[in-house]
Amino acid sequence: MECIFCRIAAGTATARIVFESPRVLAFEDLHPQAPVHVLVVPREHIDSLWELVDAQLAGELLLAAAEVARRKGLARGFRVLTNARRDGGQEVEHLHLHIVGGKRLGRMLPG
Ligand code: AMP
Ligand code: ZN
Repeated sequence: MECIFCRIAAGTATARIVFESPRVLAFEDLHPQAPVHVLVVPREHIDSLWELVDAQLAGELLLAAAEVARRKGLARGFRVLTNARRDGGQEVEHLHLHIVGGKRLGRMLPG
């Protein structure tokens, strides 16, 4: 199994798990970009958001992101984002949501 997030989901690579459900897993990012930086992934391999067609799973991923934010005490605010495909800056080709927070985040979009 090549994919590192599949290996984490299978338990053959280690990660600091934050949330688990039958179809979704969340773990600490190895190179955090903020005081809180957690990744939410589907247990099954899906390359990116481009390939996501399962509405139930999409909902579970988003609800997991919200649960991670609550568990991490991010009541002051947080951000959820996903990088998709090459031009989106995706480095690990297994769909993941970044949950970042724990500091005042700079604006990402103009206006
Ligand atoms: P992206 O650029 O959106 O594909 O983000 C990939 C993220 O995965 C980066 O923030 C990495 O720090 C993180 N990452 C890569 N390998 C691991 C790992 N083994 N455990 C936890 N996070 C990882
Ligand atoms: Zn995978």
